[in-house]
Amino acid sequence: MMRHKPLITFLFLFIFCQLAISQIVLVPDRVFDGFEMHAGWIVVVMENQIVYSGPSDKFNGEKSTTIELHDYTLMPGMIEGHAHMYLYPYNQASWNDQVLKESVSYRTAKATWNAQQTLMAGFTTVRDLGTEGAGFADVGLKKAIQDGVIPGPRLIISTKAIVATGSYGPKGFADHVDIPLGAEEADGSTIVQVVRNQIGKGADFIKVYADYRWGPEGEARPTFSIDELKLMVKTAESSGRYVVAHASTVEGMRRAILAGVETIEHGDGGTDEIWKMMKEHNVAFCPTLAAGDAVLQYNGWGKSTQPDPARIVNKKKTFTAALQNNVKIVAGGDVGVFEHGDNARELLMMHDYGMERIEVLKSVTSGNANTFHLENLGRLKKGFIADIIAVEGNPADDLSNLYNVGFIMQNGVIVKNQAGQK
Ligand SMILES: [Zn+2]
Repeated sequence: MMRHKPLITFLFLFIFCQLAISQIVLVPDRVFDGFEMHAGWIVVVMENQIVYSGPSDKFNGEKSTTIELHDYTLMPGMIEGHAHMYLYPYNQASWNDQVLKESVSYRTAKATWNAQQTLMAGFTTVRDLGTEGAGFADVGLKKAIQDGVIPGPRLIISTKAIVATGSYGPKGFADHVDIPLGAEEADGSTIVQVVRNQIGKGADFIKVYADYRWGPEGEARPTFSIDELKLMVKTAESSGRYVVAHASTVEGMRRAILAGVETIEHGDGGTDEIWKMMKEHNVAFCPTLAAGDAVLQYNGWGKSTQPDPARIVNKKKTFTAALQNNVKIVAGGDVGVFEHGDNARELLMMHDYGMERIEVLKSVTSGNANTFHLENLGRLKKGFIADIIAVEGNPADDLSNLYNVGFIMQNGVIVKNQAGQK
């Protein structure tokens, strides 16, 4: 028996190598590579990498496994720019109740489900903007997905997020009652420690609330001074992280931009001067159109029968102004406020509010990858990670096609393939 061992080893290695080098050739009707739409292209994947993306007739390699995707458009896995995996729609449970009455274990169980819904909607990467009272629970959620324990998108996380003392909720309790907050307080000298601790516990980036609804009449007002914001950015940057800011007032946005944050979330009060400043400082804008739209409907607005409320009229105006000033737009809906898996809602609204469809597609793929420093994601190009989806029809003609995802590959692994079952 012993003398056969080398032969068996050789055969095993031969078979193993054949499996290891086998390529998957994806043949759709067209390919959106993260920038442009191409007819007659194919994409070839080996292990977790794209090894070819281009015209079918120029590919010379071996076509070992071919997946035909008739009537489908192949595109990069979408990247959600603003999510809260630890929240779910406020018409099911108020934000206060989610933060105060639900255990972290319950919220993690929900987040696990949310992660699966997100991935199955074709979003293979998600930037999460804070656990809203669930502490560092997103660190474990991210690891469980990374380790393959549960299905879900690749997560880029901010953990607790940072607020100025006294500014954030839940509010309305007697002053002798200590209640847990939806984010972590820091001011002046404690800023350095809080930023470093969040990084140490696993934050990929830092989220700060540069303003919040804490004015005398409950209106949004700036929170941190510009020096405090600068200290946050400096502290985060020396560890290789960046800072993003929730801001909707002119002054909150102005301070955040000058302090060096990389993205502004919401931005409802943006003015021409602010958009110009963002363009000049290369700060991207995440408008979260779908969140405001959802909350207004929870509060009774009949979208199909009633005129736009003032907040929507204003949002359309400011979004258009940001586009006209060529501010880089992050596709991110504040999903969690509305249902996880319904992420495409933001993309359709971006078009409704005036953005070209192809620009929306660029934003949710190569644009977000670029803004979030994800160097090997968001494009179908040789050397990039094989996060690839196929949607029915042509999304450049009709963005609602983004809801019909028939094929999903994440990191080279096929997690859904219904394309052949039409
Ligand atoms: Zn948010």
